[in-house]
Amino acid sequence: MQVSDSLRILRSRKAIVVRVVDEAPAVKTFTLRIEGEHDIKPGQFNMIYYWGIGEAPISLANLPVRSGGSTIIEHTVRSTGIVTNTIIEKARTGSILGVRGPYGKGWPLDKHENMNIVIVAGGIGLAPLRPVIKYIEKNRGKYRDIYILYGARTPTDMLYKYELDNYFKIPGVKVMLSSDVRVEGWSHYVGFVTDLVKNIEVKPEETVSYVCGPEVMMRVAVRRLLEKGFRKENIYLSLERRMRCGIGLCGTCQFGHYFVCKDGPVFPYSEVEDYLWIEGV
Ligand SMILES: Cc1cc2nc3c(=O)[nH]c(=O)nc-3n(C[C@H](O)[C@H](O)[C@H](O)COP(=O)(O)OP(=O)(O)OC[C@H]3O[C@@H](n4cnc5c(N)ncnc54)[C@H](O)[C@@H]3O)c2cc1C
Repeated sequence: MQVSDSLRILRSRKAIVVRVVDEAPAVKTFTLRIEGEHDIKPGQFNMIYYWGIGEAPISLANLPVRSGGSTIIEHTVRSTGIVTNTIIEKARTGSILGVRGPYGKGWPLDKHENMNIVIVAGGIGLAPLRPVIKYIEKNRGKYRDIYILYGARTPTDMLYKYELDNYFKIPGVKVMLSSDVRVEGWSHYVGFVTDLVKNIEVKPEETVSYVCGPEVMMRVAVRRLLEKGFRKENIYLSLERRMRCGIGLCGTCQFGHYFVCKDGPVFPYSEVEDYLWIEGV
C-alpha cells in the first residue's frame, strides 16, 4: 500500500446520528447516515470517532441500507472507557460522529452457502452477528438449518429485545436463549450460552459456527463445538484487541503473527488456535 493510500483510508467521514435506541444498561444502538456509499459487510467494523475525544472500533450491527444518496448503518456501543462513554453519554439524534472504514474481514457468508450455520453469541457479541441473522433472513434459500444461541448475564442485558421474538419466526431457524442467572419470568435456559451447544442437532461436517462474545466464552464455545465434532476450520471467531490505525500499520492489535484489524477480526479457529490459549497475546 502506498503512503498516500494509507492517509486517504485514515480519513473520517461525517455521519449524522438519526436514531438512538437504548438496548441495555450502558448499551445503545446508533443509526447513522453517511453521504454516499459505504459498502460495509457483516463482521466488518468502522472506527467511530467522537470529535475531540478519539476513536473506537465498532462492528456493523445491521445490514447497511442505501437511502437516496446516503447509506444508513447501525452500530451498537457499550460504554467501557473514554470514547465509548462519551458516545453513549453525549451522542444523540442530530449529533455528528466520524466514521472511518469499513475495515477487516467479515463472516464468510458467501463461502458457506448450502451449509448449516450455528450462531453462538454472548452479551454484546450479538451485535456483529445481527447483520448475519438479517442477511440469512433475506437470503433464506441459500442456507440450510440455522441455530441462534444467545445468552447474556441477565435478560435485561440482552440486545435487540424488541426483535428477538422475530428470530423464532424465521423458517428453519431454531433459537435458544440463556440467562446466566435465574430471573423471575424467564422461561428459557438458565446457565451459560455455551451449555446450549450440546442441544444442537446438525451434521458437524456440513455445519459452520460463528461465535462472538467475551473471549472466555468463545474459548468454552470452541471446546463444546469441538466435542460435538465440528472441524476447527469451520468454527469462526470474531476477536477483539485494542487497535488504533485499523489498517495493519501501527501494530497495536498484533495477535501472534496476525493483525486483528486487517487479517480479522473474524478468524477460523484453525488459524488462531495456537495463540488463543496464551494469556495476554
Ligand atoms: C473489531 C472490533 C469490533 C468491536 N465492536 C464493538 C461493538 O460493536 N460494540 C462495542 O461496544 N464495542 C466493540 N468493540 C470494543 C470497543 O472497541 C472497545 O470497547 C473500545 O475501543 C474501548 O475504547 P474506549 O476509549 O471507550 O475505552 P478505553 O478508555 O480505551 O478503555 C476500555 C477498557 O480497556 C481498559 N484498557 C485501557 N487501556 C488498556 C490497555 N492498554 N490494555 C488493556 N486494557 C486497557 C480500560 O481500563 C477499560 O476497562 C470492538 C472492538 C474490536 C477490536
